[in-house]
Amino acid sequence: MAWTTLHTSDATSVPQRLIDLGLDRTLILDPMLSTGFVNQSLTKLVCPHCALKYAEHKHKLSDELNARIERFCDPTGIKLRGPGCLRCRYGTMDRVLIAETVVPTSEFMEIYRDAGKIAARKYWVNEMGGLTKCQALIRRIYAGEVDPRDGEADVSPLKISLALNRNAGHAAFVMIEEPENHLSHTSLTTLLSRIESLTRDHQQLFITTHSTFVLNRLGLDAILLLTSGKASKITSLAPDTVSYFQRLPGYDTLRMALAKKIVLVEGPSDEIVFEPFFKDMFGKRPMDLGIDVISMRRLSLARCLEFCAALDKSVAAMRDNDGMDPAELRTGVDEWLCAGKRELFIGQVAHGRTLEPQLVHHNGESTLRSLLGLTAAADLHKWMNRERIETAFRIASAATTLTPPDYMRAAATFIHG
Ligand SMILES: [Zn+2]
Repeated sequence: MAWTTLHTSDATSVPQRLIDLGLDRTLILDPMLSTGFVNQSLTKLVCPHCALKYAEHKHKLSDELNARIERFCDPTGIKLRGPGCLRCRYGTMDRVLIAETVVPTSEFMEIYRDAGKIAARKYWVNEMGGLTKCQALIRRIYAGEVDPRDGEADVSPLKISLALNRNAGHAAFVMIEEPENHLSHTSLTTLLSRIESLTRDHQQLFITTHSTFVLNRLGLDAILLLTSGKASKITSLAPDTVSYFQRLPGYDTLRMALAKKIVLVEGPSDEIVFEPFFKDMFGKRPMDLGIDVISMRRLSLARCLEFCAALDKSVAAMRDNDGMDPAELRTGVDEWLCAGKRELFIGQVAHGRTLEPQLVHHNGESTLRSLLGLTAAADLHKWMNRERIETAFRIASAATTLTPPDYMRAAATFIHG
């Protein structure tokens, strides 16, 4: 017996995940050894004491959800979460398991081994009478035990999962509009895994999205940018850069893709002080001019610049010198820079290793001490280093404007154009 967290979206993904984790394929696909694969989600049970009848309250649900419900279930028995009563919390009571269980046969394992996961899943559903989580959910909804809104959020969206299960074999094109809508983070992850497994099946998949998570997860090299009648595709990204961002699905690459011009900074304190400096120089905030200031949050500058270069974006990137020669730091990213279009700005080592000493160098100790409200006894450098965000915040909120460090001024001028 093995217990482990696998984070798969369905039971048929379990063997593949175990194999990916390094377990012996022949052992995993031996039905004498692997006797069951289970996948489960939890959702809320509707409180029967204050539940509402679907037919009388369906106007509270979106038209799309109503259409799905009425297509897949007979709606007479469906109940919606009520307002809450003495016996429940906000209309729901307990949790219920929605699960699917595969008890593999030797045929199932053979198909899994020879034709892969999708074929094995089809065989399980069509030939072995397997009950999928989605079907199990529909039964619960139909019985009035689960509010369809909770079911879709916690388990899986009825629409897409069913479409995939039924038509995965013969559809050549699948189009999904903004799959991120109305889904919790975990359900979105589940759905994306399904979408990914579908695309491996030689099908053309079109997804429109406003979510960076969806974009990163499905691979940045798959993006087609549509702007004013022109479509452009990223073809120049190295495969390891695509997988780099796939591992960081929360990182805001979509912002980079959509910005007109970009200022890349290292962390939040640079981001906070850049805006007032820029506004002081040009009378407008960067955002008013279509310039997005994006913090790399310790991500690799080279990867971010490579992505921006693939999109042909104008970028002013800034970084601390950390005591190293700026010319040397530049060589690491030189291939992504482009004269007049993408440039890297670094402060002189003599003016300080990071933003804080650079600010002191350009403004003097007494100006900063009074702006930050520090007493004469406090150690200015130590305080600024320890309280970087607070320092940036006080600088940005102060009535008097500081002189920006040279490299920041140069970056602002460059990106302003
Ligand atoms: Zn109740």
